[in-house]
Amino acid sequence: MRFIDLHTHSQASDGTDSPAQLVAGAAAAGLAAVALTDHDTLSGLDEAEAAAQRHGIEFLRGCELSTRTEYGEMHILGLWLPRQADALEQRLADIRHKRDNRNAHILEKLATLGISISMDELQHEAQGESVGRPHIAALLVKKGAVPDMETAFREYLGSGGRAYLPKEVLEPEEAVRLMAGLGATVSLAHPCLKPLPPDWLEAFVLRLKACGLSAIEAYHSEHSDAAIRSCVDLARRLDLGLSGGSDYHGRNKPRIRLGHGYGGLRVPLDILEDLKARRRQQGLPC
Ligand code: AMP
Ligand code: FE
Ligand code: FE
Ligand code: ZN
Repeated sequence: MRFIDLHTHSQASDGTDSPAQLVAGAAAAGLAAVALTDHDTLSGLDEAEAAAQRHGIEFLRGCELSTRTEYGEMHILGLWLPRQADALEQRLADIRHKRDNRNAHILEKLATLGISISMDELQHEAQGESVGRPHIAALLVKKGAVPDMETAFREYLGSGGRAYLPKEVLEPEEAVRLMAGLGATVSLAHPCLKPLPPDWLEAFVLRLKACGLSAIEAYHSEHSDAAIRSCVDLARRLDLGLSGGSDYHGRNKPRIRLGHGYGGLRVPLDILEDLKARRRQQGLPC
């Protein structure tokens, strides 16, 4: 049986592999297909796609967007994004601009706590164009302010941390419409990372289905077997497809491996074949 990974992050956002390294890693792991789904940027996709051709692995152009709900952030994945995605690119440029403002404010808060990090240092650490808290966390570790990334989030950057600032994000409906309107397959990312009332989740998914959502990410490194079953069951009931991936971030989440998650994750190639069958029914290319 062959396996896939439809949720990964490169240096273009908060992963640490270059897009080409990530694809090479996926090929070396024997995966049949990989999607690159960086937060708020498409800038790694061309490099990854070219590498995938060299390595003979199927590649999906993707992206992950954060959205706001009454239960906190929910993330939305776009898969099979087209090469020309102007409407999305414009919105992403605006979102990244807001990220930069937020990063500057977080650095100001850290400065008042006696930790000095400049925007230049942050950009150098990040390498890519979508910059955020994991890059600040990595600098906090490098400067010896904290022993590891987890502590950086717990003490400073996470909600409740001393330098926490929320991020301005999209409404979920807009995120789904933006990507579905480009012909992408839109999937609700890792819906079970935090406890949610089941009725609320079902109503939320129905709301997004009306905007073009076509799948649920049932298989994810942080989903328990019970969470996977409940996602599969919800997708069946609402006639949605399934997607799955590790949420690989390279050294920023060192225990997550491409295609394996924390060790027990395996996303069969059938999942991709089912998503493709759904796209064909809708007259979309795959
Ligand atoms: P941002 O988009 O700047 O708000 O940063 C969110 C990202 O931080 C997520 O996509 C994760 O990759 C990462 N993250 C969040 N919490 C933690 C944590 N406790 N440890 C490591 N990384 C985290
Ligand atoms: Fe991330
Ligand atoms: Fe996410
Ligand atoms: Zn992710």
